[in-house]
Amino acid sequence: MPHTEEILHGRYAVVSCHVEQPLDDEAWRRFSRLQKRPPGGFPIAALMRPPAAGEDEGLWLERAREAEAHGPFGLHTHWTAPDHARPTNGDPAAVVREQGEWLRSKDLKAQLFCGGGWYIDEGVAEAVAELGYADCTATAFRPDYLEPDAQHLQLGEPTWLELASGERLLEIPTTHSIGMLARGLWGPFRRPVVHAYFHDTDLLSKRRRAALSFGLTFLYLKRTRTDLGELQRRLRPEKTMSFANSRA
Ligand SMILES: [Zn+2]
Repeated sequence: MPHTEEILHGRYAVVSCHVEQPLDDEAWRRFSRLQKRPPGGFPIAALMRPPAAGEDEGLWLERAREAEAHGPFGLHTHWTAPDHARPTNGDPAAVVREQGEWLRSKDLKAQLFCGGGWYIDEGVAEAVAELGYADCTATAFRPDYLEPDAQHLQLGEPTWLELASGERLLEIPTTHSIGMLARGLWGPFRRPVVHAYFHDTDLLSKRRRAALSFGLTFLYLKRTRTDLGELQRRLRPEKTMSFANSRA
């Protein structure tokens, strides 16, 4: 295939799920069912939180392998605790490196990263680039729970982030929550890639399940369907910026 055909051009949509509670049977059952029969036919990337101390690693691995078989697979780090995503101390990059290496040691082929609580710093970005993942931690919106000075990366479109080490990281920002999709807030379709996300725990709510189903069906009518794995392999954004200059 000629090189140029390997570069995606167009107006795409992709979907990811932050799988926060893969050991919760009901959340898992709902997620797993959705991943096998997704609304709008979108392959759903499973960005999974690795097991914390005391969580059942065997069951986690079984479920992670199932998720990996049904869509793109990635790492979703919660630094502090299962219910506290952002880091509070220590070296955030070291945790990402350790978790990425652990996934690799278990033969799980992650391609993607999303920092819990939308946290990323340049050290984390370096670790994600070293692991060979694309990053989805930047958002096109400002999460309303973040303090004004909280570390966060705001970007509207896929971008190469140039890092201090000389590496570069493919950033595929998350652009829409379920609520934004359902409200049609993406407006006049200016963004080259719509990347919608939800949480596995959202699926425990009937109202949110209905909103997701509506949103993805609508998205399918408006955009070319692809998935984050495909974008990680083939997307070559025109835009480049240095990580140091990209922080909101
Ligand atoms: Zn999370």
